[in-house]
Amino acid sequence: MLCLEVTLVTEEQWQAILQNDAGFDDHFFYAVRTTGIYCRPSCKSKAPNKENVRIYSTKDQASSAGFRPCKRCKPTGERLPDSEWVSVITQYIDNHYAEPIPLDVLAEACHGSPYHLQRTFKKVLGIAPVEYVQQVRIMKAKEQLIHTDRAIANIAMSVGMSNVPYFITLYKKKTAHTPSEFRLLYKHNLEVLHDAKVNK
Ligand SMILES: [Zn+2]
Repeated sequence: MLCLEVTLVTEEQWQAILQNDAGFDDHFFYAVRTTGIYCRPSCKSKAPNKENVRIYSTKDQASSAGFRPCKRCKPTGERLPDSEWVSVITQYIDNHYAEPIPLDVLAEACHGSPYHLQRTFKKVLGIAPVEYVQQVRIMKAKEQLIHTDRAIANIAMSVGMSNVPYFITLYKKKTAHTPSEFRLLYKHNLEVLHDAKVNK
């Protein structure tokens, strides 16, 4: 009976795990049978299946039961700092800006809850994840406007913005010019520079 009491997850513990509740850190550790890994309650990794969860009150108990400490929440040492987690998130966005990235998809990919991700991201970078996604998309579009002759609609789609009018509005909001104006201005400036060199 004692053994069951130690290992079965209570509703309170389960909620703490689901909500990555740091208030329960050091109160208990949870191990996941299928992965062989144990975590702090606050761990941002994906929530396990409840039936695979085992609870231990100390990390030593989890270790002696054969579980390894999680690399992410580092139950034996320091925790992953917020800034490191945010670089995981920005890296994901940098690699996936061409696809739709709703907050829940981002949170799932980066092992956290949408709420927690949103809050931590803003705390570290001062902007919301969606604003960062927009910045990356506008920057990538700018590169294409400068270096290619692709149509505006194609560029919009290639940076993950299938709504072309919205892309144009956002581009103007962020750079003060529409994509076409920007491209014309850029080419014009190049010509002026070129002429200036030739006439020297
Ligand atoms: Zn963990």
